[in-house]
Amino acid sequence: MSAKCLRLKLRRPQCLAFNHYSATHNPSPSYVLGKGLCEIAAMSVQVLAAEMAEVELKDVPSKALTPESPLTTKADDKGIVESEPKAVATSATTPTMEPIVKTGDPSLGFLTPNTKMPQASAMKRTDPQQNGGEAFVNRDGTVAEAPRLKKIQFADQKQEFNKRPTKIGRRSLSRSISQSSTDSYGSAASYTDSSDDETSPRDKQQKNSKGNGDFCIKNIKQADFGRREIEIAEQEMPALMALRKRAQGEKPLAGAKVVGCTHITAQTAVLMETLSALGAQCRWAACNIYSTQNEVAAALAEGGFSVFAWKGESEDDFWWCIDRCVNLEGWQPNMILDDGGDLTHWIYKKYPNMFKKIKGIVEESVTGVHRLYQLSKAGKLCVPAMNVNDSVTKQKFDNLYCCRESILDGLKRTTDVMFGGKQVVVCGYGEVGKGCCAALKAMGSIVYVTEIDPICALQACMDGFRLVKLSEVIRQVDIVITCTGNKNVVVREYLDRMKNGCIVCNMGHSNTEIDVASLRTPELTWERVRSQVDHVIWPDGKRIVLLAEGRLLNLSCSTVPTFVLSITATTQALALIELYNAPEGRYKQDVYLLPKKMDEYVASLHLPTFDAHLTELSDEQAKYLGLNKNGPFKPNYYRY
Ligand code: NAD
Repeated sequence: MSAKCLRLKLRRPQCLAFNHYSATHNPSPSYVLGKGLCEIAAMSVQVLAAEMAEVELKDVPSKALTPESPLTTKADDKGIVESEPKAVATSATTPTMEPIVKTGDPSLGFLTPNTKMPQASAMKRTDPQQNGGEAFVNRDGTVAEAPRLKKIQFADQKQEFNKRPTKIGRRSLSRSISQSSTDSYGSAASYTDSSDDETSPRDKQQKNSKGNGDFCIKNIKQADFGRREIEIAEQEMPALMALRKRAQGEKPLAGAKVVGCTHITAQTAVLMETLSALGAQCRWAACNIYSTQNEVAAALAEGGFSVFAWKGESEDDFWWCIDRCVNLEGWQPNMILDDGGDLTHWIYKKYPNMFKKIKGIVEESVTGVHRLYQLSKAGKLCVPAMNVNDSVTKQKFDNLYCCRESILDGLKRTTDVMFGGKQVVVCGYGEVGKGCCAALKAMGSIVYVTEIDPICALQACMDGFRLVKLSEVIRQVDIVITCTGNKNVVVREYLDRMKNGCIVCNMGHSNTEIDVASLRTPELTWERVRSQVDHVIWPDGKRIVLLAEGRLLNLSCSTVPTFVLSITATTQALALIELYNAPEGRYKQDVYLLPKKMDEYVASLHLPTFDAHLTELSDEQAKYLGLNKNGPFKPNYYRY
């Protein structure tokens, strides 16, 4: 069906968020979140939008949802998700409320529907099905197949929840779960594991101290421990705490019934408790079978949240938990908060009628966003969705700053390596590469960079790094780090030439960057020396140190900073508030980026942590720059 364009002309200043003033002066109720929240805005940034000259919204005609509606892409109907989905033409599918400067006239602030989204490249990095059924070469040279822990079955209509697999294992897989379902921010963070009690949580009758049993977790007795974890996380999540505090009696999410599927960690708990403080009811499942912090899930259950998750769920458990979240008599979600798209996919498959009541989807991951764009492109997305992944505050901070900190953590935890004086080559000088290089340089490492893009290459040079070809330095370096998002960057030829003791790891999204499969040959011996650390030994005794079998180092072997997650979580909360309160017609059945004002607002909420003092534009300066004094301060194409 062809999309038509709806042209809105907004001639008056419009309140974008948290401004009580707007309740009485502006006709934009969705952004009016009450007096309490208004004060937050006053604290840091006045969230009054610039006068928006013209805004065009892409209007995908809504479709009546019937159970027969084809709700997923063809690939999904066949039960298969493409391992390397093609890039989506994001220009056509990413409408935004933000004013974008029209080509040729930088002062007008027009939105051009064909403006290409700057972060479109991120869309290419979707969920390659990773690592299923790989072979391990034993020390005696025999080949054993690794258990397919990395894939999960999408049980489809034939799901029988009561038929339980005895343990996670190989099976005929109809669909892989998303990348985010297999890589974990929390895997190294949890202090509990599933081995302390073999009884499946599904077989336990548990109640919290108030007699409520609407949850399914590992062990409710760990609640006190989990509460301490949550309190620690709260200290590094200032914006959520500010939202919570300032919401006071105002409840911008009153009546919202949020069903969520994210990593269940202390940071998520802070988000959930914030949503609750803002008036929402929440039911939650884990988006990853390994990442749940059991003690945190216990604390949430003790606090009255309906949580269905534990660390080490089986594939069947995974979908069972999601279903328990959604399928409850007398309760229907009206908002979805997803990370990876599995929850959204489940509702589409199983309960399509639920979308009649759902006001919107907020999606965090590259993978989930890609799926949403696929639905949108096919005209099958039946509610508005917010792409949090491509918010500036998510992408810039997650990729750059998160990696700047966690690269050292991941390397140190696995190898105890000293960085000073070590020669390191970083492949790829994008956001992640820049973060890695900066951290290693600061630690006294000698850092080389490889790049294919002359612009990034020039940046590397200007930042003081030697730009080389991998072949030129491969014999001498102590550490090799890939962060290109590409495949076969480090191939067997290079692995053969590395020196003894060289550490090899990947910070990119998928495990395709290092050709690990090429190391599974009979003449090489693999020795598991620590969790996630393998020595691969050549016949002459040379060994390389391979981390996390080439999967994302920081997600596999370390934690990521809570403060970074705070930024993302705040963006998620604001996206929920925005979609939930948006007046009819503001958002169509399409995928949107959060208005830039809100990105700026998220950033402003984190500034007080640093006792940072923002300079305000004078009237004269604002006029000179053609800006509203209160933002947005940059056009949509600005790269930061
Ligand atoms: P980016 O596109 O900004 O950077 C990747 C860079 O690699 C580009 O500059 C590109 O030119 C370069 N490149 C591509 N092929 C190359 C090759 N063969 N040799 C040398 N350079 C090459 O992307 P990014 O934001 O830096 O993300 C990189 C990867 O890290 C992606 O896969 C992304 O999903 C992932 N990521 C990881 C984390 C994490 O926590 N580890 C966080 C965010 C993103």
